[in-house]
Amino acid sequence: MTSYKSLGVRPLINAYATVTKYGGSLMPPEVVSAMSEAAGAFVELAALQRRVGERIARLTGNEAAYVTSGAAAGIQLAGAAAVLHKQPEALKRFPDIAAFKNEAIIFRGQRNPYDYSIKAVGLRYVEIAGSMDDLRAAFSERSACVFWFHGALVSDDDPPLADLIAVAEGRDIPVIVDAAAQLPPVENLWRFTEMGAALALFSGGKDLRGPQSTGLMLGRRDLIDSIRPISNPNHGLGRPFKVGKEEMMGALAAVERYLKLDHGARAQYCEDVARMFCEALNPLPGVCAEREFPNEAGQPLPWCRVTVDPDALGKTADDLVQAFLAHEPGIAVSPLNETQFHLNPMTLHPGEEIVVRDACLKLLA
Ligand SMILES: *Cc1c(COP(=O)(O)O)cnc(C)c1O
Repeated sequence: MTSYKSLGVRPLINAYATVTKYGGSLMPPEVVSAMSEAAGAFVELAALQRRVGERIARLTGNEAAYVTSGAAAGIQLAGAAAVLHKQPEALKRFPDIAAFKNEAIIFRGQRNPYDYSIKAVGLRYVEIAGSMDDLRAAFSERSACVFWFHGALVSDDDPPLADLIAVAEGRDIPVIVDAAAQLPPVENLWRFTEMGAALALFSGGKDLRGPQSTGLMLGRRDLIDSIRPISNPNHGLGRPFKVGKEEMMGALAAVERYLKLDHGARAQYCEDVARMFCEALNPLPGVCAEREFPNEAGQPLPWCRVTVDPDALGKTADDLVQAFLAHEPGIAVSPLNETQFHLNPMTLHPGEEIVVRDACLKLLA
């Protein structure tokens, strides 16, 4: 029997977030069945990518769409698109693109481990501090694109995204928005591109609950079309980011489901669970539990911050994070520092909140 159990791998309850290291999210039955049906027949893969893209584009109010093998692959392909759409002769040259427009403007405060994907294209970072004047000064003959990492990394010093888009797109320099974890709200599937961003990138395996190894690239058709020749099933920079027929159909099913989802009811569940955690934990000596909104990724959902007094409990927050993992069943919670961690309802299945609460009462007593 092929199972986690047969491998000695323990399934976990996820009270952390849609983090990649614990599997992102769980695919709902409609996604699994779309993948299963796709696995039953051969198709022409490039044609399927086009048809799936057209459907996702129509559903999300975008000009075009493309299924990537994750948002990080999307960043890399988007960087390539920024070079290729005007310089198709760069096709066979990546990552040696010094002879082309090869500068990617990026905000210093938004630098993060995912931006390696930009460098992998052969693009050179032009880091700026934050203001619109810095942005204007950074533009040159070699500017290929501006990257914007939406979410927790955006600081108050960064200019409003709408202003940045107006200035950059006014110079015909594409703005690429990494919005990997910016769902919910569902409206973000069209918000950034409606604002004028050339491309917006999302993870398929986070709150969309598509296959973990998928992502969405949404936006301008000329940019998306420019990467087809270097992407699966063709050869070049994008070939290692293969997306199979099953993943394409799973991603489509996930988008269809997400658009129909009752997001209000889902947010209410998270509210109810966050309140239940607070009410259960606050009577414990040396423990303080508070509702926080929005959550760390900026998603408009509440989560619960737990502060512990290590002297009173004889355990630090780090000890507790490990104890939750070692608990039976294992529970992943979101670590913060020596005295604090978070409990996140967004990845719980109804019913699991009781298991998490009871584990808290046991481990924090
Ligand atoms: C998760 C994440 C990514 C990577 O997304 P994958 O779909 O896992 O490749 C990129 N950027 C940010 C900000 C993320 O949160």
